[in-house]
Amino acid sequence: MREFKKQVLNEAGQPRVDVWTGFEMQWPVYEYEPVLKPTGLVELAYDRYLDRARPLIALELLRPAERVLWPHLGVFAPKGWATGKGRREPVRIYNPLEMSDEIFLAIQHVRDLGSMLRFINQYGVLGVGITDHRDFPFDGVRQTGYRLAALQSQIADLQLLNKRRMGGTAETREQYADTLNGLLPYVQLMVRPSTGGLRPLYRIGSLFDVIALYIWEAATGGGRLRRCRDPKCGARFIPHRANQTYCTHTCANRTAVRRWKGRQKHVRKGEHA
Ligand SMILES: [Zn+2]
Repeated sequence: MREFKKQVLNEAGQPRVDVWTGFEMQWPVYEYEPVLKPTGLVELAYDRYLDRARPLIALELLRPAERVLWPHLGVFAPKGWATGKGRREPVRIYNPLEMSDEIFLAIQHVRDLGSMLRFINQYGVLGVGITDHRDFPFDGVRQTGYRLAALQSQIADLQLLNKRRMGGTAETREQYADTLNGLLPYVQLMVRPSTGGLRPLYRIGSLFDVIALYIWEAATGGGRLRRCRDPKCGARFIPHRANQTYCTHTCANRTAVRRWKGRQKHVRKGEHA
């Protein structure tokens, strides 16, 4: 999915298609829990972050270092770090770009703290830090909720924008572009050596950026989002086939099973009559 194709000439001057993967990302997943106060390993990481932001003592006397306050609703930290008993290694490390379809759907089902925790335990934290400090060592609980909601409303609005009857006017498009510009991913431009020379490589910084990139693609690619026909799901998705009406096989199957059970009920009623 994240592949690039380009027609190039080989050494003999014959055209050939060169294919390479241009996006790279490694994202760790721990088992997370909300931590209200910095203790244990969490405190250690917080102290290190404060130290790094602090200039030399002499300078500090002239201009006090900016105090980065611990977020009052706490952060998501790997389980046990606050008590000093957790494992320090991630449960797994993966490339979210290879699963962005799935993550795009999953993010739309986050509704409360419980489902938020399930989401980050499956895909990792968003990597958004706390307000005004994106590089904070932990994601704030409040900031996570706030950034998730921003992505969700951008996804919902994108589908409305595509529907002309909902008023896809120049003004709404302008508004949409403004908010999307505020969410756009931090993409680092890099190069990778290859046999033919150098290849472009785009490094994505966070899980939040993966979803923002997906929205960017959906918004600029001319494709249209559809809404899953299972009323219990209702997720927006990019269709891969013209006649696709469910976001996943799971939703399509669930609906089929529900219909079948409904029919069986009718059959049984008929038998008793
Ligand atoms: Zn669905």
